[in-house]
Amino acid sequence: MPRYAYVNGRYVPHAQAQVHIEDRGYQFADGVYEVMLIHDGRLVDEEPHLDRLGYSLKELRIPWPMARPALRLVLRELIVRNGVAYGTVYLQVTRGVASRDHKFPAQATPSLVATTKRQKPTPAALAAGVAVITRPDIRWRRCDIKSVSLLPNILGKQAAAEAGAFEAWLVDDDGRVTEGSSTNAWIVTRAGRLVTRNLSTAILSGITRLSLLELVQSQGVAFEERPFSVTEAKEATEAFLTSTTSLVMPVTRIDGQAIGDGKPGALTMKLRDGYLRQLAAPPS
Ligand code: PMP
Repeated sequence: MPRYAYVNGRYVPHAQAQVHIEDRGYQFADGVYEVMLIHDGRLVDEEPHLDRLGYSLKELRIPWPMARPALRLVLRELIVRNGVAYGTVYLQVTRGVASRDHKFPAQATPSLVATTKRQKPTPAALAAGVAVITRPDIRWRRCDIKSVSLLPNILGKQAAAEAGAFEAWLVDDDGRVTEGSSTNAWIVTRAGRLVTRNLSTAILSGITRLSLLELVQSQGVAFEERPFSVTEAKEATEAFLTSTTSLVMPVTRIDGQAIGDGKPGALTMKLRDGYLRQLAAPPS
């Protein structure tokens, strides 16, 4: 089955999909993106993802590339054409093609590209737990915008890979964890409270984070949304991370130090199971 990409109004074979060299996404990283999970052929949390796309576009004053219902149809068509039951859809909107000049072009049509990727329903490492390292957060001060400008995130993830870890937890100037390079960070304190950083311009409002918080509330689990330090994280009884592709993934080591007994924590596994159950049978 040929693999298609959607590029500015056309479904084209993936290998031949192209954008112009003066696309502002290519020259300036002047664009935003979303990654949505495809579970059993269905898009997970599509509306919150489209809400966040709208927020990112609004903050950067990039117009929607097409009306929201039309975008939903494009994503569906791409998933069907590519026959993806489990995987992800990536969509990217840039300010468009224009002669290179930093300021917004007087006239530009936003570019829209979408691709799909197959992925196993649940990553193998999910239940076993992963290691993270900590790194200074060298990103800009608008991490609430899901911009395609990801160099600090790439450097963080590469440093993690070179250290044999799965993720880098980024640390602000006050020694507190903001989030991972592509995930949100969570701990369970010695007092048994679930903690994840509060929303602000310092982190991305993860859709998995939001879904999990709803689950946490419905289960009556005690939680706090606040910054936590690296020291507090290392002393925590449990830690985990969340994202569209990692779902709820236990963290068993931070900078080589075991968290709790070095095994995935009980609350983490309970929340992971609850999240996976919800994926299989989404609330109507
Ligand atoms: N933080 C950052 C910096 C990210 O890139 C991501 C992945 N998009 C997340 C958090 C997790 O967000 P989500 O749950 O929406 O995938």
